Amino acid sequence: MCFKDPEIKAIIEGLQVIGDCDVCGKSHVYIYDTGEPNTDLIQLFDGLLDIYIPSANLPDHFPKEKRDFLRNELFEKWNIFNIEKEKIERLMKNICKQRYEENPSVFDEPVGILSTEDESYIKNNSILKGYAWEDFVKGIKGDNRFHTDFFNLEILNTFLKYAQKSYEKGTIFFRARISDVGGLERNKMGAPPVGIATDGRVNASGISCLYLSSERETTIHEIRAGTHDYVTIGNFRLKEDISVVNLMKLHQICPFRTTDDIDFIQHAVNRKHLEKIGNEIARPLRRQDSPLDYLPTQYISDFIKSKGYQGIEYKSTMYENGKNLAIFNEDLLECIDVSVVKIKEINYRHNPESVE
Ligand SMILES: [Zn+2]
Repeated sequence: MCFKDPEIKAIIEGLQVIGDCDVCGKSHVYIYDTGEPNTDLIQLFDGLLDIYIPSANLPDHFPKEKRDFLRNELFEKWNIFNIEKEKIERLMKNICKQRYEENPSVFDEPVGILSTEDESYIKNNSILKGYAWEDFVKGIKGDNRFHTDFFNLEILNTFLKYAQKSYEKGTIFFRARISDVGGLERNKMGAPPVGIATDGRVNASGISCLYLSSERETTIHEIRAGTHDYVTIGNFRLKEDISVVNLMKLHQICPFRTTDDIDFIQHAVNRKHLEKIGNEIARPLRRQDSPLDYLPTQYISDFIKSKGYQGIEYKSTMYENGKNLAIFNEDLLECIDVSVVKIKEINYRHNPESVE
């Protein structure tokens, strides 16, 4: 299907029309016949298009670099379509046919979002109040650690709600430690105790946190085991249902599902900050980094913890498509089994996103 947004997909699937899509070329899929307009679908897109103002109607001082064609905006900033820019343009003109006929400039000329230039709007609605992530990093590392004031925490909290993910009691996660051929006992597989824990991306030193992966392969890569190393892998079973924040999804939250809490403009001004947060938590420290480099992500994870979530999910940069979990309270899991593996060959893949 041409769409990846869950709300749009649900509407089209609900029409129960199966056929060949002449936009993406896929056959035998749910399709939407633009000759039979669907009001729900048109309304969703109307809401989104309302935030864009044609270049000619923007004030002169509105910067050039913030003006772009609708097809580029939709392709680059919103996680709605599965198709290339030119097809997005064609599709939008068809779905919003009436709007296009009445007001073609939004579709054909560069557009801009007026509020992105409004200082007081940004101060109140951007997660970072108009600061850059780098300002925050500098501030928390070198100026004020515990009462930093770079964030609109209420806005961040609202986005977190939509990145919430549940895991059911009984779910198995994995955790590996390098060992000898005899392996480690189950009770040696847990988190370092309170007071002894060292700095991690999600915990400050002294605060205990259990780092897990959702697949065996990921956890072996995460500990950076070398060829010929013996590795003990513990299987951890969840003792109760838990609720975590999935930071991989933070910048992909469906804009149509959140409109009661977060409007389209708030999505637009925060998307890059949300993506930054997800990437920073996933970024491994390099040898020359200091524990101070963990402070920014520790700040975010402590905030998530303070809101009652039991953990954070983030992507593995060591293993493609791998998922990691940091659980704040290790008592939520029990190690039910251990096994020892010898690493024969490690295939460290290159992940372009983690290179700076
Ligand atoms: Zn299609």
